[in-house]
Amino acid sequence: MKATPERLEARSAEIGGGLTIRRALPNRHRRTVGAWCFLDHAGPMKFAAGGGMHVGPHPHIGLQTFTWMIEGEVVHRDSLGNEQVITPGQVNLMTAGAGIAHAEDSAPGRAGELHAAQLWIALPERERHRPPAFRNYPHLPLVESGGFGARVLAGSAFGQASPAEVYSPLVGLDLSATGRATLRVPLEPSFEHAALVLSGAVTVSGEALSPGTLLYFAPGREELALRSESAARLLLIGGTPFGEEILVWWNFVARTREEIAQATRDWNAGQRFGAVHGSPARPLVAPEVTGLNLRSSPPGVT
Ligand code: MN
Repeated sequence: MKATPERLEARSAEIGGGLTIRRALPNRHRRTVGAWCFLDHAGPMKFAAGGGMHVGPHPHIGLQTFTWMIEGEVVHRDSLGNEQVITPGQVNLMTAGAGIAHAEDSAPGRAGELHAAQLWIALPERERHRPPAFRNYPHLPLVESGGFGARVLAGSAFGQASPAEVYSPLVGLDLSATGRATLRVPLEPSFEHAALVLSGAVTVSGEALSPGTLLYFAPGREELALRSESAARLLLIGGTPFGEEILVWWNFVARTREEIAQATRDWNAGQRFGAVHGSPARPLVAPEVTGLNLRSSPPGVT
């Protein structure tokens, strides 16, 4: 018999620019889905001139940041010297590895809109100290069936593979419908999965789902049945259960408290991560690592 899916409520969190977003991972009841260890859903929202996303320069270690842009435009700048505008339908994938810094800003001084998901992928032990890298993927495979458009953001599905370079067995799909639609999504049975509605409402294998709830499925499933009655969009993530204990603190994913403390000292001293040029927002200050439960991230994670 199939295990009952778990409903996990996202919480609201604030990111740079005073933007309130929904944070679905990490969750009190579930830290990871495969190697996916963080999931923020921003928007859809419209903002006045000067608004939108303004996350000043900040560092990362031990993870990849994976940004899926649905509406709006955000400028990514990093300490490798990359400056990349991400536009709708594109993925930005930044591999922090041993360390990188970046900033993300909606175009300054202009009114606009924003709808995006930003996820982190924990790097496995053998890859987590690799050199940092950044890539923009302007084209992801699209499969259309039953009224749904399935965009393969990461991994493989429907016989199509995403070009995004990842280091664990995982999958990420954006599934959108403009009206009444049905779709059976074949799954890799060894993966665990989770679904998050980004707009509208979708019934996922009998569970009514709307934005703000992450629906988790344990390994052993062969497919999910999606049904929408009107325009809707759903993000599906999955992967081999991550077999390593990770520590997530602020913008760092590591294994030991000392690694986190060292990264905090290095960033606040202006060392190791390099400089990000051109961001209109001020650099963020890493919170001191004192008497904390390293499994719970403080507010202000970006
Ligand atoms: Mn970041």
